[in-house]
Amino acid sequence: MIDDAIRVLAGDCTVITEGPEREEYRGRVTTIVKPDNTVLVHDVDGYQPVAWLTRADSVSSDRAADFALVAKKEGQTLRVAAHDRDGFAHYPSSAAGTPLGPCPDCENGTLVRSSGVRCIDCGSEYGVPRDATIQPDGNRCACGLPRMRVERGLAFNVCLDRDCESLDAAVREAFDREWACPNCDGDLRILRRGGLIAGCERYPDCDTGFALPNGVVDGECACGLPTFDTHSGTRCLDPNCDRMLEPALEAEPEPASDD
Ligand SMILES: [Zn+2]
Ligand SMILES: [Zn+2]
Ligand SMILES: [Zn+2]
Ligand SMILES: [Zn+2]
Repeated sequence: MIDDAIRVLAGDCTVITEGPEREEYRGRVTTIVKPDNTVLVHDVDGYQPVAWLTRADSVSSDRAADFALVAKKEGQTLRVAAHDRDGFAHYPSSAAGTPLGPCPDCENGTLVRSSGVRCIDCGSEYGVPRDATIQPDGNRCACGLPRMRVERGLAFNVCLDRDCESLDAAVREAFDREWACPNCDGDLRILRRGGLIAGCERYPDCDTGFALPNGVVDGECACGLPTFDTHSGTRCLDPNCDRMLEPALEAEPEPASDD
């Protein structure tokens, strides 16, 4: 669904902030209340609000009372009283992000990438790994959704909808049982434990497991495991391996991926 509305109150107002200090302003201002209860009071110039409260615990508005709007958060209060109201309205709002072309799930929607990919009209939403790249004019799946490019040993191009084309299945297809466990005679299976990992098939007897780096396989380490070309350099599948010959030992371990 579309996120809650943004509320806008415009007019000649008294604005009072109380926290450690008390400040009072009067002017013809526009107050914006976001769905997350962030309140911004803007006057005539500059990008900075005259007064604001980020993610207030509560925002109450009362058209009848003197104070049109009261926002509270941890001992801070922001009050806006309209003396002469120019306007009070609700507008539909959504996250804004990089546009990715039309939404296949509705008539006129546009997909954007903010946290995940979502339609700004119908609210369809798709989770994507943080390191995925998506080209607005790129490759689209037969279902109409864009494909994302994700590096997990190879570069995979899969539909945004995991039920349509599964990244996990593609990675499993490519690398399941491809590498031997360095600590026993088992194979490494491709598993999902939060992110994708290469974990020993002998679990729980052997608890060897490595998060799959965000990169492509470019060789083999002296320890026998594959090496990955990542944006921070070449590294062994084992982030703690000390047998990396080239380029050096200081390859930084990647943060665990969260896809
Ligand atoms: Zn849509
Ligand atoms: Zn698809
Ligand atoms: Zn093992
Ligand atoms: Zn190694």
